[in-house]
Amino acid sequence: MDIVKLSAVEIKEKILKNELSATEVVKAHLNRIEEIDKDINAFISINKEGALEAAEKVDEKIKNGEELGALGGIPIALKDNIVTKDTKTTCGSKMLENYRSPYDATVVEKIKAQDGIIIGKTNMDEFAMGSSNETSFFGPTRNPVNTNLVPGGSSGGSAAAVKAEEVALALGTDTGGSTRQPAAYCDIVGIKPSYGLVSRYGVVSLANTLDTVGVFGRDVSDAALMLSAIVGYDEKDSTSYENPTHLVVEKDLEPTEYIKGMKIGIPREIYLDQIDKRLIGVMDKVIKVFQSLGAKVEEITLPHLEYGLSTYHVISAAEISSNMARFDGLRYGYRAKEYSTLDELYINSRNEAFGDEVKRRILMGTYYLSMGLGREYYEKALKMRTLIIDDFNKAFKDYDIILTPTSPILPFQLGKLKDEPLTKDLTSIFTAPVNLAGLCAMSIPCGYVDGLPVGLQIIGDRFKEMNIIKAGLAFEGGMKNGI
Ligand code: GLN
Repeated sequence: MDIVKLSAVEIKEKILKNELSATEVVKAHLNRIEEIDKDINAFISINKEGALEAAEKVDEKIKNGEELGALGGIPIALKDNIVTKDTKTTCGSKMLENYRSPYDATVVEKIKAQDGIIIGKTNMDEFAMGSSNETSFFGPTRNPVNTNLVPGGSSGGSAAAVKAEEVALALGTDTGGSTRQPAAYCDIVGIKPSYGLVSRYGVVSLANTLDTVGVFGRDVSDAALMLSAIVGYDEKDSTSYENPTHLVVEKDLEPTEYIKGMKIGIPREIYLDQIDKRLIGVMDKVIKVFQSLGAKVEEITLPHLEYGLSTYHVISAAEISSNMARFDGLRYGYRAKEYSTLDELYINSRNEAFGDEVKRRILMGTYYLSMGLGREYYEKALKMRTLIIDDFNKAFKDYDIILTPTSPILPFQLGKLKDEPLTKDLTSIFTAPVNLAGLCAMSIPCGYVDGLPVGLQIIGDRFKEMNIIKAGLAFEGGMKNGI
């Protein structure tokens, strides 16, 4: 049996049935990392001892007949902007190269409490700003599908680790698409939950009103398992949602059963000039799959979708510029060696430790918030955000889910868009509006064109995670059955 090929659900079952020990599972994954990660660079740090210790505890529990948590013995990776006591948390930046948090994020506590095994922390675009994992201080991550390609970003390390079978599950974050887009580029499943469903306590802020923790798995059931283990109200996060959402998936139904009665909307605005024309053919096939499964598919309109990306850009940059102010060379992180005044200490530390992309965002955000321009940019963006939310609210009155491609372009070659940040930004055009409206969405593999994987985005209304999970299960089943 090739342990690393097992899904998270299978690992859990085999451990429960005593067919595998957690220690065997963890060792197999650590070996896999040793063998392949020099080519992928998915990990920034690996907690070998901690993982083996946690595995031993799981095996002990099984031996003593104790009940195992929902993630019992499953190897999991965390994006390196989720704080952990046991390993450093770098955010992919020189600024936090050696930073160690005094506490665990709530999601980390939840994973540990449910017997999940944290293997290590994954590579990412610096401070989660980017779409290709090329802005990391620790060097780029490569896409396991084809190592000449980027894995997407900013959670590219987590997506690559899952695809490369280095772990079964992983957490990322998603502020404008950073879980869904790398899931699409690495040919796996990624879910961005509704804003507030998963605690952000201990997740380093990028843009607070948009940030969410995302999950990765190689199939829908695995991703749903990971999500169900981390949801829930947290008094330490003031934006946490108080009503519990139960994510209970009925297993082994026919694909048609999952989707029975669902109405699906396809926004006509997705057929933009900038979209890779090969994706239009893929969308046509996707629509046919859903129709054959018995769903009703109709064209809808989201009139303000086209402004989503610029709105996201202004709001996220504004929030980023104020969030990044805490990295001042004094409180934590990097401190410049040479300075003679306090101002110089701030300036040199930030100048030496932040990469170009981070500087670009701070400059843009400061500009959008500057006196006199705040009205012109920031306030206008807030108004546009409301219009985008209204568009989705209207659509969800009549439709259960909305479909778009996850990214308007296919995974690109490493280095190809190095000097084209605006083209890279474009990859968030269908994902960022979902964050602006606080909705949930999944990216699910929907085939290949010219050897490149394509992701389908399934968007659901706020706290209607079950709709996207059911639609995902139906689609996955439909594809498998060759519909
Ligand atoms: N790619 C987007 C950006 O660069 C999304 C980032 C994210 O979701 N963290 O802003």
